[in-house]
Amino acid sequence: MLEAIGRLVVIFAIAFVALIAVALLFCAYTVHTKKIIFPNFVLFIISLLYEPLRRLLSFFHVDPALIDGVSVEIRNALNYPDFACTNMEERVLILPQCIRSTECPAKLSSLDGIHCMECGKCAIGELSASCKELGIKMYISPGGTFTGRILMLCRAKAVVGIACYPNLNEGMLNTKLIGVPSQGVPLTTQGCVNTTVDYEAIINKCKMQISK
Ligand code: SF4
Repeated sequence: MLEAIGRLVVIFAIAFVALIAVALLFCAYTVHTKKIIFPNFVLFIISLLYEPLRRLLSFFHVDPALIDGVSVEIRNALNYPDFACTNMEERVLILPQCIRSTECPAKLSSLDGIHCMECGKCAIGELSASCKELGIKMYISPGGTFTGRILMLCRAKAVVGIACYPNLNEGMLNTKLIGVPSQGVPLTTQGCVNTTVDYEAIINKCKMQISK
């Protein structure tokens, strides 16, 4: 009996190490080639081994957010068909408050986040004007709880989210759970204030449509 348990433990350990190695190989391939292969399979393994993979990367002094980055790119690719066939008016853009100017005069509404006044102190003003032209609703969220509330309130059919890779990964998983296809754009510098993002990439995501 003890021998059988010992064998099972060894088999389990070998399978675990093999899966970790496979996941890391796929992540390295995606990062180096910018190509995604077997997206559903890779996302499944990464989700299954999320914490061990992050800890392993940290141990080797590699940024653990790499795992989230690969997950977000896979989610973007998988969500593309459902997202791209929605109308502009059905989409919402959700921005984090950390990309606002530190002198932002906008007020916080307890209902739907921060209302940009297009004061010109940061690039969100221009983005807000572009969203109005496209017919897309734009929200600035002060945090994850608010983002969930905004999504419930606006009944969006598709979402473009902006955040750091770990928050994007979590947010895109949550939108999938409520059946809303999402696209994520990562911040280009991280932090709690004065973060930056590629605004052109945001507009491109917002405009994404399947060519007819
Ligand atoms: S443009 Fe909008 S978000 Fe940026 S500082 Fe002005 S009110 Fe705040």
